[in-house]
Amino acid sequence: MTRPLVADINLHALRHNFALIQALNPSGSTLAVLKADAYGHGALPAAQALADLAPAFAVASLEEAQALRQQGVNHPILLLEGFFSADELPIIAEQGYWLMIHSQWQIEALTAYQAQIQQPTTWTLWIKVDSGMHRLGFAPESLPDVLAQLQPLATQEILLASHCARADELDHPLTQQQINCMQELEHQTGLPVSLANSAASLAWPAARFAWQRPGIALYGMSPFTGPQPEADQLQPVMTLRSALIAIQDYPAGSQIGYGGRGVLPEGGRVGVVACGYGDGYPRQAVEGTPVLVNGQRCPLIGRVSMDMLMVNLSHLPQAQVGDEVELWGARLPAQEVARYCDTISYTLLTGLLPRVPRRYSE
Ligand SMILES: *Cc1c(COP(=O)(O)O)cnc(C)c1O
Repeated sequence: MTRPLVADINLHALRHNFALIQALNPSGSTLAVLKADAYGHGALPAAQALADLAPAFAVASLEEAQALRQQGVNHPILLLEGFFSADELPIIAEQGYWLMIHSQWQIEALTAYQAQIQQPTTWTLWIKVDSGMHRLGFAPESLPDVLAQLQPLATQEILLASHCARADELDHPLTQQQINCMQELEHQTGLPVSLANSAASLAWPAARFAWQRPGIALYGMSPFTGPQPEADQLQPVMTLRSALIAIQDYPAGSQIGYGGRGVLPEGGRVGVVACGYGDGYPRQAVEGTPVLVNGQRCPLIGRVSMDMLMVNLSHLPQAQVGDEVELWGARLPAQEVARYCDTISYTLLTGLLPRVPRRYSE
């Protein structure tokens, strides 16, 4: 490796985080959400690390599921948006993928396909209910009709699923309303329920139900803006590291980088770090975004460029070329960096581009 930029992926932390969430609801099950290449961490290594802990995985598309299958992952895999077109159904049936069913057109496509193949298929169907997010899913009152339509399908297992829209807001009433809605449906139908994403699993015990579906928490990020006792035990999985590749002293009034955004009224030392928006570091990072140099916080100065960014080293006179830099990770939470970039940790992690080598440790 030539360029010093690398994403260190701590698979031990991933396992720790999964175990922590599973332990929140020992009588229920937890699947690991591995969509978007396991939020930028690498879906295959993540699946392998969790293979003996997680009974099932979840991804966003057939392509993501097939990539895991073809590399030897034999767990059940839930397709979180089901299928996008009926021509996916033969592979889904053959591989036994679990399907989220959210729309009437999917019920019709599934019924038509089943009628045409005329052989029993074990479908595992997660019926998506809109309990308040208003994105995907059937209205709760239409559930009896949905279940009646699914009746003629051959062997099947059915669950009820829904998604929380505001579980990261610890005092917002919507989550309790969504919980109540799913409790009622669980009672009415006797079917198992899955509601909780990371935020709901961590902070809303009644949301855990039969299946938890954590994503971001597995990767060690808290979905909350403040402290939260469960989230505070998560361990960051990814540490994005690089090094100082140049250091320069500038006189008073110097303007640093594109557009001269970084200004040094009294002059000072500036270090150049090998990491830029061409790696997925957000260009919208404001002046002062923290960067760790030798474990010490330094403020970002100037605009992020494609391959480099600059830090103000004026208070670190001993810093040298080659010194270690952490952009986010074990000692600088990605959610904190995200706040300086007007975004959330999810986009930093999933936005890390393929040219950044991932280096795995157990
Ligand atoms: C992405 C996703 C999750 C995981 O969400 P986190 O906030 O990352 O825990 C759970 N369920 C569904 C349906 C999703 O799309």
